[in-house]
Amino acid sequence: MTLNRTWILRKRPAGHVAPGDLELVSAELPALDDGSVRVRTIYLSLDPTNRIWMSDAKGYMPPVGIGEPMRGGGLGIVEASRFDGLAAGDIVNTGLATWALYNDLPGKSLSRLPQIPGVPLTAFMGPLGVTGMTAYFGLLDIGRPKAGETVVVSAAAGAVGSMVGQIAKIHGCRVVGIAGSDDKCRWLTEVAGFDAAINYRREDLGTALDRHCPRGIDVNFENVGGAVMDAVIARLNDFSRMPLCGLISIYNATEPVPGPYNFGNLLMRRTLMKGFIVLDYLKRFPEGMQAMAGWLSAGKIRFETDIVQGLEHAPASLERLFTGKNLGKLLVQVSDGP
Ligand code: NDP
Repeated sequence: MTLNRTWILRKRPAGHVAPGDLELVSAELPALDDGSVRVRTIYLSLDPTNRIWMSDAKGYMPPVGIGEPMRGGGLGIVEASRFDGLAAGDIVNTGLATWALYNDLPGKSLSRLPQIPGVPLTAFMGPLGVTGMTAYFGLLDIGRPKAGETVVVSAAAGAVGSMVGQIAKIHGCRVVGIAGSDDKCRWLTEVAGFDAAINYRREDLGTALDRHCPRGIDVNFENVGGAVMDAVIARLNDFSRMPLCGLISIYNATEPVPGPYNFGNLLMRRTLMKGFIVLDYLKRFPEGMQAMAGWLSAGKIRFETDIVQGLEHAPASLERLFTGKNLGKLLVQVSDGP
């Protein structure tokens, strides 16, 4: 008998996720269906979008239902397979699965992860995973940075932002990151190779942007929204681009949020602002992964992971994304790797 452990959404959070919103339930696993694969989660990915999925506000996909397992992505090892293409011991990306120790998934939706010499498994949850693809396609497809241009990215030391800045550097841009601590800013300039980093909690963001972006801003990769976004919008150049990737400052909001006060500047500067969801680029993931893998192997991309031990800590750890405690990709280690 194998017991599974799964987080169930019990009620929709009011504001930040609180104890009792989710419940960790143990249950015996059923027999594995024909065509299915049983995957034991090694790393569970915690993402700002988990909070979006808990809400019944109209999102980009249906919310998680009350009483249903919490939706989430991860990486795991095949424990049993009734699908010809996969065998016990294979390492797979689970795609959209659940916050659980085991997920029984259709084999045809999974693919074995390649082994790249010198690249750890965690890279498949970061630069070679969803957050890496978000940075790659959002920046290159919508931001279209040109050498010599100035690119600004918010939540710059996070999973997406840290990749955006480094990809922009590879394309010859001046890169300025906005992050919430001096340690994060130091990592951005000393490890990730950003030209400048601004701690928006410590200094006036507008003044710092004026200092670090003397030729204005050509691309704003937006991860945060609110006052941070407003300060950047005010400094955009003519024909600038603004990939609208995320608005983490409003995901826990319980009241309507005011729009950007400097919205009019998008008109005056003829800025292209485009929202996107990385899943729109699913068919092009192999292209993005190949490029990112090449840069990783060449040492041109650095990444960090923030790993919490134990599935039981998943809901409380999600809060790290909203308090800014994480540096790089936030993961929960659910069980041991190979
Ligand atoms: P991160 O690893 O960047 O973690 C979130 C970071 O956001 C925190 O570390 C914190 O950093 C910052 N933050 C949180 N609250 C605020 C706030 N109120 N004001 C300013 N900064 C804040 O997460 P991800 O890289 O996974 O996600 C980054 C963004 O990208 C999110 O908005 C997310 O929703 C979005 N996203 C969008 C996708 C898409 O398909 N469109 C796909 C994946 C992510 P700090 O210390 O700097 O404040």
